[in-house]
Amino acid sequence: MLATTNPGKAREVRTALAGLAIDLRTLADYPGLPPAVEDGDTFEANARLKALHYARLIGEWTLADDSGLEVDALGGAPGVHSARYAGPEHDDRANNARLVAALAGVPAERRTGRFRCVLALAQQERVCLTVTGAVEGRIVDDPAGANGFGYDPHFFLPALGVTMAQLSPERKNALSHRGQALHALRPALLELLEGER
Ligand code: IMP
Repeated sequence: MLATTNPGKAREVRTALAGLAIDLRTLADYPGLPPAVEDGDTFEANARLKALHYARLIGEWTLADDSGLEVDALGGAPGVHSARYAGPEHDDRANNARLVAALAGVPAERRTGRFRCVLALAQQERVCLTVTGAVEGRIVDDPAGANGFGYDPHFFLPALGVTMAQLSPERKNALSHRGQALHALRPALLELLEGER
């Protein structure tokens, strides 16, 4: 079970794990579960607590993604608060507007930041493994691109000259923070599946 209600995350995880002999579900398949309280100070702490929370509730292997954007000029914000930067509604548009406003007057060379992702896999009472990924970029005022989700339209990749939202889903998965973590997860999952047989 992939412990997310975020369709963007779910799509990327499904693509990256395609071909594995698993029946991947998400929280949408388990309506009414009490949500995890994401009160950790780090992506890792939140990924672990989310994975454990839902693994205990449903008794299935559970994968949790905790991820977000760290902006250097904002002291690492929005960080673990990325989803709710502009309020509790998880509103990407409002989050992006707040990000752009917070960086008003900050020159391009100081708009550095990164997306980070931690994936945690748990079974009942135990976190079996965590994997991580990070990708560096720069925040731009003008959004570009219609792919991806969240802060992608404002996250510029200098080496490629495009924003994350201008990449195809396959290219995003090949280089993104989540794609890197999923790349590390895949062989470990294969091993677990072998062990289960
Ligand atoms: P979480 O669900 O608490 O892990 O919050 C993740 C939040 O970080 C999302 O709602 C987005 O705002 C942001 N985020 C994480 N990964 C990405 C990504 O790949 N692209 C854009 N924004 C992301």
